[in-house]
Amino acid sequence: MSKPRIHILALGGTIATRPDATGAMQMGLGADDLVSAVPLLASVAEIEAETVSRVGSHSLSFDQLQALATKIRGLEADGIVVTQGTDTLEETSFLLDLLLDLDKPVIVTAAMRNPSLTSPDGPGNLLAAVRVAADPWVRAHAKALGVVVVMLDEVYAASDVLKVHPTRINAFASTQTGPLAALVEDRIVPMALPVRDAIVAAKKHLGGAKDGKAAPVAVFWMSLDESGRLLDAVTTAPDHLGYRGAVIGAMGGGHTPERATDSVLKLAAAIPTVVAPRAGGGPMLRQTYGGPSSEIGLRKGGLIWGGRLHPLKARVLLETCLRAGLSRAIVTEVFDLFG
Ligand code: ASP
Repeated sequence: MSKPRIHILALGGTIATRPDATGAMQMGLGADDLVSAVPLLASVAEIEAETVSRVGSHSLSFDQLQALATKIRGLEADGIVVTQGTDTLEETSFLLDLLLDLDKPVIVTAAMRNPSLTSPDGPGNLLAAVRVAADPWVRAHAKALGVVVVMLDEVYAASDVLKVHPTRINAFASTQTGPLAALVEDRIVPMALPVRDAIVAAKKHLGGAKDGKAAPVAVFWMSLDESGRLLDAVTTAPDHLGYRGAVIGAMGGGHTPERATDSVLKLAAAIPTVVAPRAGGGPMLRQTYGGPSSEIGLRKGGLIWGGRLHPLKARVLLETCLRAGLSRAIVTEVFDLFG
């Protein structure tokens, strides 16, 4: 039986670094280097490797990811593996998930330990990602799985995965739902299919969101005794400093400090503003606490409720909605689907 054709697209990141003369790690390796470091890949799939960029994922842009989605749509491979840095993987994978609607696996992977360290995880993660992309169960359920992230022998839904540690090797987790599958020996062991109703419904409005103009979205983290002055600066500045939307990382079930609430409401009147839980995801309250700075008051005041999405993922969804030209009413409807 012929092996599946897996197309690897390398963007950069720690997985693609090499030391310079001072010993500092620099972006440098391309897709061919990554593939040649893992001879076992050839026994799993027919590999095509392409270097898209050599940048740290902390410097990727929405436009670059839009271009990557367009490239992926045009590929004839049976599965796609994207390698990149870990810093923004929780955002980029979710963006690809919103933009792509393919019947084949799209996997994103990376590395926490660079190639100069003992036990770098890049080669193992790349092999695991290709195994997942080539796996019959994954291929049969590709649409139901959406874009997935493979790190340290676990498979995570792009909508849920978070980077939960800045340095250690087991830095990724799906805190709300757990992994979808695990890799053991040379097998993929399925454990769950993600609930994707909200994403599928959102995609109907987004329609691929291919041609829109960038729509920068600011994130404001609410914290003890926050005054709201930074929000006022955006609300009152000419053209809102270029921001087209905002996300508030709110306390608890959807709360902001009372002294900042007027600023929050004014910002929401100026640009679409989503409330998402700074606790890191999970459904927020809708009708428990009264007063102006809790969920009932904020929702009445025009704040869009971000549901169970982490604030960073809410930002990705809001940018994509605004770029697609959706009205505030439709944006509210889309976020409402997330619980
Ligand atoms: N700064 C790197 C990046 O995101 C870190 C990594 O890859 O882990 O590109």
